[in-house]
Amino acid sequence: MVIVGGALAGAANAILLLRERPGLKVLIVEKSAAFGRRVGEATVEVSSYFLCRVLGLTQHLNESHLVKQGMRFWFFNSRTESLPDCAEIGGRYLSRVPAFQVDRAVLDEEVLRRAQVLGARVLRPASVSKVTLVPGGEQVLEVRSEEQTTRIFARWVVDASGVAALLARQEGWWRPNPAHPTTAVWARWTGVKDWDGYELAQKFPEWAMACHGIRATATNHLVGTGWWAWIIPLKGGDVSIGVVFDQRIVTWPEAGPLGQRLKDFLMQHPAAREIMGEAQWREGDVHWRKNLPYYSTTFAGDGFVLVGDAAAFIDPFYSPGMDWISFTCSAATDLILKQQYGAEQLAPHIARHNRDFSRSYERWFEGLYRDKYDYLGEFDLMRLAFLLDLGFYYLGVASQPFKRGRKALLEPLFSTTPSIPFYHLIRTYNRRFAQIGRRRRLANQLGRHNGHRRHLIGGFTFARSSAWPIVKALGGWALLELTEGWKSWFASQPQETSARKPAVVATESAR
Ligand SMILES: Cc1cc2nc3c(=O)[nH]c(=O)nc-3n(C[C@H](O)[C@H](O)[C@H](O)COP(=O)(O)OP(=O)(O)OC[C@H]3O[C@@H](n4cnc5c(N)ncnc54)[C@H](O)[C@@H]3O)c2cc1C
Repeated sequence: MVIVGGALAGAANAILLLRERPGLKVLIVEKSAAFGRRVGEATVEVSSYFLCRVLGLTQHLNESHLVKQGMRFWFFNSRTESLPDCAEIGGRYLSRVPAFQVDRAVLDEEVLRRAQVLGARVLRPASVSKVTLVPGGEQVLEVRSEEQTTRIFARWVVDASGVAALLARQEGWWRPNPAHPTTAVWARWTGVKDWDGYELAQKFPEWAMACHGIRATATNHLVGTGWWAWIIPLKGGDVSIGVVFDQRIVTWPEAGPLGQRLKDFLMQHPAAREIMGEAQWREGDVHWRKNLPYYSTTFAGDGFVLVGDAAAFIDPFYSPGMDWISFTCSAATDLILKQQYGAEQLAPHIARHNRDFSRSYERWFEGLYRDKYDYLGEFDLMRLAFLLDLGFYYLGVASQPFKRGRKALLEPLFSTTPSIPFYHLIRTYNRRFAQIGRRRRLANQLGRHNGHRRHLIGGFTFARSSAWPIVKALGGWALLELTEGWKSWFASQPQETSARKPAVVATESAR
């Protein structure tokens, strides 16, 4: 068995396989000599379950990373001048289900080390340049290391090559997702202010007292029209800050060093001016990636399987990347073990794997992300979406592995029949909020509710009582339709398109 890529998805897959079949010969080929920091720094509930309870990393996460305190959102408009003026959504107390802010350079090394301890052989730095797929036979890999190329034969190839998506690109399965043209720009920063420190508590006492938990270790999201930014603290003091924007709505400034452009862009937001006004990006650690989403039309065959980003990527909003790793690695392991234990017919399992992950990607995108950037910056719309998206995630998705164990990870999001009505409901309200957002934009009415409001929740759990916020938010949606939504019930397509004409990015002038 050869695993291409030894970062989180690849190394996790090796652990899962070797735990189940200790004698298995596993070779991990990893391009880099050492992992650098990378995005993918916030876990959410499913990925936390996977990292803690499946991979067994709880102690490592507690010791070498930070415990995450949920998600928090900050909104602004032309009348919000300071941090406390910004409308806020988040928890009033600490989170109830574990999650972590992770330094991926540290985490991925640890997972790879554990795979080695279980018996995986690691070839590093080395790179797989070509794979010849032989259905049901021995796959042939060309591996380049130390100036020489060798051929390696293996019954299975697990492609965990990340965004390089080795197999999908080589085989012509790789597809962009032009319905969601997004770009990300990010860096690690020093000198970011402590959200919960003495200075801000003195400066804004009422604001500080409104939250009884810890704001700093949440994933703080700054949001604007067509964009959002994350602020994720890392163990040791550096902070990961980056922005993701919809290319149809935001025009990114072209001139100047990328770190400066990122900073200037974020300075339009009062929360950024307060928290990172004095911050400095780390030279050499500033990155960008255009046209983020893509997918493979094939996820597995008899002899290969794609996991993590090598299989697909949608959007980093709500941090689903490591959830996707949890689902793809669990299902890949299951598929390979079926063959290893001598399943007579592999074809139906492969067909099911491909069907489930194609459906999951499509519904995950259509349900949660399509056109979301049309309303991301609207406090009242995002308040409803947050309660609904998160409520359904807690009750229908995140609770499943915690209640039913790891077999729940064999059912990727929205792939099962009972999830279909929920998919349609989620897709419907997200579409409606996007339409309302576009209408507001055309009518020059964006951001009216973005100041001087705070929606601080007690925190979701897996108890039935967590359905209440969903019920209330559905009521809020109905009211919204009656008071405002009806104006966009019959909106025409051209109107909708013109609502997304690129807005000139406000930088200095917005201060
Ligand atoms: C802007 C942004 C923010 C994100 N934020 C989050 C977040 O907060 N939470 C979250 O869960 N997810 C997040 N994600 C997603 C997350 O980064 C990915 O899902 C995750 O890192 C994928 O891990 P991976 O192991 O599949 O791939 P990678 O981490 O990309 O690893 C792939 C590995 O394969 C190696 N490799 C590549 N080609 C070859 C080859 N030919 N031969 C040998 N080795 C090779 C590489 O060196 C690399 O080590 C974010 C993504 C983006 C773009």
